[in-house]
Amino acid sequence: MTSIEIVADAVVRAEKMVLFTGAGASTESGIPDFRSPRGIWTQTDPRQLTYQKFLASEEGRERFWDFSRRIWPLIAGARPNPGHYAAAELHRAGKLECVITQNIDGLYQKAGIPGERVLEVHGSARRVTCLECGAPYRREDIQRRLENGEKVPRCRCGGLVKSATVSFGQPMPMELIREAERRVVDCGLLLVAGSSLSVYPAARIPLTARQRGAMLVIVNLTPTPHDRIADVVIRGRVGEVLPQIVAGTKAGLA
Ligand code: NAD
Repeated sequence: MTSIEIVADAVVRAEKMVLFTGAGASTESGIPDFRSPRGIWTQTDPRQLTYQKFLASEEGRERFWDFSRRIWPLIAGARPNPGHYAAAELHRAGKLECVITQNIDGLYQKAGIPGERVLEVHGSARRVTCLECGAPYRREDIQRRLENGEKVPRCRCGGLVKSATVSFGQPMPMELIREAERRVVDCGLLLVAGSSLSVYPAARIPLTARQRGAMLVIVNLTPTPHDRIADVVIRGRVGEVLPQIVAGTKAGLA
């Protein structure tokens, strides 16, 4: 049996599967990841975009919003790729408990997976909220303000507004991480797609699943620290491998 066939067979047999994804699941939609040779960190220094720098000075906030203004059109215009659609097909077949994603781009929802089945553990770039009063803003409206020359948008209450993403140094939404861990404790199969598995605490989630007896499958272009405990590792593109897995399950899911 090929690796694809082994995983397709596991999908068919699993009562409950969870997809855990990272930036690599969206590179084929034109959104660069962080750590690849042409990743975002080759052009932008992440140390300049920490939460602490955002809070500390107007200069830090200007840098944050300048980066956000430049990256937003990529995210807003991105379309789901065949990997996202393959996940949506697993959802429609009743196979997918949920997607736990580190991505902030909303592409699983765009592909048709209901929002309550997508746990965005690093937040979403599609929302902006006030750090003082919690008022929500549409990201599109903030983009218009930035493009009209506002350098650091503020809330009506005078507070700082920020994209609802978890920046470096920003506290994690631990309740959501705990919810994600609850969802994987009794899943039969956890499939990682396009993550370097190097960002914690999110990267702990596949470990938890494996320790609780789930089969662990990793689809990634480059090695990850969890490869040695995975049952199957497939080196390939998410947008190619996931549709192949779904095609392999077709007979069993019909
Ligand atoms: P990462 O950048 O650390 O790693 C991405 C991994 O995906 C790499 O190991 C790379 O080899 C692999 N990869 C790239 N393209 C691939 C493809 N087509 N198929 C298979 N593998 C591919 O990303 P991460 O592990 O998700 O974690 C870092 C952080 O990046 C997260 O916190 C996330 O919030 C943030 N991020 C999100 C987006 C997005 O929302 N699309 C984009 C950039 C960064």
